[in-house]
Amino acid sequence: MPAVLIDGTAIAARVRDEVAERVHRYRERTGRAPGLATVLVGDDPASLVYVGRKRRLAAEAGMTDQHRHLPADASGSSIAAVLDELAADDAVSGILLQLPLPNRMASGPLIERIPTWKDVDGLTTLNAGLLARGEPGLRPCTPSGVMRLLAETGAALEGRHAVVVGRSELVGRPMAQLLLERHATVTIAHSRTRDLAALTRQADVLVAAAGVPGLIGAEHVTPGAVVIDVGIHRTDDGLVGDVRTAEVAEVAAAITPVPGGVGPMTIAMLLSNTVVAAERRAAAGRARPVAASGVPAS
Ligand code: NAP
Repeated sequence: MPAVLIDGTAIAARVRDEVAERVHRYRERTGRAPGLATVLVGDDPASLVYVGRKRRLAAEAGMTDQHRHLPADASGSSIAAVLDELAADDAVSGILLQLPLPNRMASGPLIERIPTWKDVDGLTTLNAGLLARGEPGLRPCTPSGVMRLLAETGAALEGRHAVVVGRSELVGRPMAQLLLERHATVTIAHSRTRDLAALTRQADVLVAAAGVPGLIGAEHVTPGAVVIDVGIHRTDDGLVGDVRTAEVAEVAAAITPVPGGVGPMTIAMLLSNTVVAAERRAAAGRARPVAASGVPAS
């Protein structure tokens, strides 16, 4: 039986509507809008498109948009100075440093300059640590988007076996931790995993985030599984994912398409994180001590 297609475009639009409503309430309460600051280094065409989309959708949700565009040869210290300026700016609720940086520049030290409570990509060591400990913090956008897709699909997680293919800091690791938070039994596969198909066939929920086009086929999927395809690859035939969608759809109960699955959720969750960041800061108040997560300390 062909799988149900999980409509990420529609679910993302719903998330953005919820964000717009929260932005409206935040403005009524505080007299100002949450602000998203985007920092782009260089002119990579894909990054230009992604940042443009993030800015447009943030503005559509009623947020203020601050953008900094630095040349590809910008030094680490000049990028750091921009991040520090945004970190100190009360009008900025969230800071997004668009990755990857040009010329293989290391992003880690720059990301660490973003205050935890403005880290709307959820990539600082502190936010990663809070997630690992199961404590409140800002979560990475793509795995958060996957969790929302699973929730909307009604996929059972508690006690079920979830297999995540990929262990990157951006997707695989936080994905596994978010699934664990929902009481799934989680296995992480990676490039050294032996007999991937034997492992993934055990999955009730399979999340493919390997960055290998068409890696997952029908032989990797047990009948009735929910399959989430995080992969995104530009090919001569258009965008494809890590999953061979047509053949897996004959086996799975539900599957995300590419495009129109996980992709639109990533920006929606970025906007959601930004309004959450603004709300937490407002709740914390300026005079009271603020925990690392941006949550009031008392
Ligand atoms: P990444 O940093 O390259 O990580 C890929 C992970 O997959 C690594 O852990 C790697 O294992 C593992 N892997 C590679 N080949 C494998 C194989 N043959 N079998 C099993 N595991 C394998 O990539 P990423 O940033 O996590 O992104 C993954 C994919 O998601 C990419 O296609 C990316 O474009 C896409 N993506 C989409 C969105 C979106 O919004 N839709 C957002 C982010 C990323 P090792 O650790 O052993 O090397």
